[in-house]
Parts: sequence; C-alpha cells; structure tokens
Amino acid sequence: MDIFLTLPFWYQVTMVAVLGAIIGSFLNVVIYRFNTGRSLSGHSHCLSCGQQLTWYELIPVLSWLVQCGLCRHCGCGVTVRYLLVEASTSFLFVLAFLNIPFGLPLLVSLVLVSLLMVITAYDIAHLIIPDKLVWLTLLGALLWFWSVDLFSSETELWLYHLLGAVFAGGSYGALWLLSGGRWLGFGDVKLAVPLGLVLGASSTFSFIVLSFWVGAGVSLVLIMFQWFKVSRGKTRLPSSLKQLTMKSEVPFAPFIIIAFLLVFFWDVNVLQLVTFGW
Ligand SMILES: [Zn+2]
Repeated sequence: MDIFLTLPFWYQVTMVAVLGAIIGSFLNVVIYRFNTGRSLSGHSHCLSCGQQLTWYELIPVLSWLVQCGLCRHCGCGVTVRYLLVEASTSFLFVLAFLNIPFGLPLLVSLVLVSLLMVITAYDIAHLIIPDKLVWLTLLGALLWFWSVDLFSSETELWLYHLLGAVFAGGSYGALWLLSGGRWLGFGDVKLAVPLGLVLGASSTFSFIVLSFWVGAGVSLVLIMFQWFKVSRGKTRLPSSLKQLTMKSEVPFAPFIIIAFLLVFFWDVNVLQLVTFGW
C-alpha cells in the first residue's frame, strides 16, 4: 500500500480517477439490475438491439464520449446516466483521496461513496430509496467507525455520534410529518440516520441546513431552465410550471447526499459560513 504513496502525485490522482470510473461503470450495472432479479454477472449488451458489447465499448467514460452516446451497432442512444455515474464516481473518488487519510479510512470512505452514488441514481430514477441500501449505509457507517478506531474511544464520543443520528432522523422526520411527505419521503428520513451517525451532533446541524440550501439552489436552476424553455416557446407554460410546484415529487436524497459529502470531506460549517468565519 505504502509503495503507492511513493509514486508521483499526478500519477496517484490519475490512478484513483481511473479506479473511480471503473467502479462507476460497475455501479451502473448494479443500479440497472438492482431489484429486477437480474444477476450481476453475465455480459453487457445494448439495451436497444441486444448486441453483446466488446471490451472497447465498455471503457468507462471514454467509450460513451468516443461514440457520442450512441450504440455502434444500431445507432440508438445510450442513456447519459452511464456517463454521469462513471464521471461522478471518478470525481468523488479523487475528492476522497485528497481529503481522507490514506489506508483503511480511505478504503471505507470509497465504499460509502459508491453506496451513496447508487442511492442517488436510484432515487432520481425511481423516487424511492430501497431499505436494503439504507441498511448497507448503516453498515458502512459502522465500518467507518471501525476504520477510524472509534470503537475503542470514550463514551462521550460515542454519544456525540449517536446524538447526530437522533438529530438527523428527528429533524427530517419532523419535516416529513409537517409536510405530509410532500417535501421529502420517509426513505430520506431513514437515510439521514446513518449519515448523521457518521458526522456526529454538531456537524449534523450543518449537514441538515446544507441539504436545504443545495435543494433550493438546484430547484432554482431547474425553474430557471424551465422558464428559459418556456420563453423560447418550446414548452407550454401551464404544464411546465406544474412540474415544479411543491407537490411535485422531487428526489431529495441527492441533496442530502451532496450536503453530507460537503461536511464529510471539508467539514463545512454553516454557522461559520453565514458569519463569514467571525
Ligand atoms: Zn444497439
């Protein structure tokens, strides 16, 4: 392991980025086949024409870009999700490498990041977070504690992290009740528990606030994008605006996960942000 750290830095980062893209490509298979009863093994093939894909059509990120997102056999479009998942996983792996101590903690954080990537893509596609994935996240949280040796530390630290879990679950749970499940789903409440557990009480506060900032920011961009399309006459006004009312089901897990990563990687503190660090 330590030999890796003697390599030139640009080489280390490139290796981690490539590893992330390869894992991302595997995650795409998991996302596609999860809960469908399809096995994870077997050859990949085009979803339109069924043609089995060769190795050079399966190179993460590059194949999609070289083929401009089209199948080489039938010319049908390959979903941009493949590219997005591979590129984001690669990016997140690099961020983890730059921010998490090398060794066991880094390895566990890469597992956590991969899991959160699957949840993000799954929630965007199906507006649901499968319980199995929440349980795996909890397992990931416990692995994280093991990797940073929290199990052998004092009771106070343990309580601090447990309080984070209660705080996260309680806050999102209250919002879920108040909004009658319109702002966020119960799956989001469950997901927040292991994430709050990892962060601990005071970081969980930043995590919750940030998730709403990120949500508001992304919604604003989407609304502006929608307005842009409306003003260019591509969409009729009533139907397009209907899509973005409060009642529309928006996947909330991606916001929760982005906020979690901001605190996990950089320990972003919203109180310091709003007071400009005073
Ligand atoms: Zn095809």
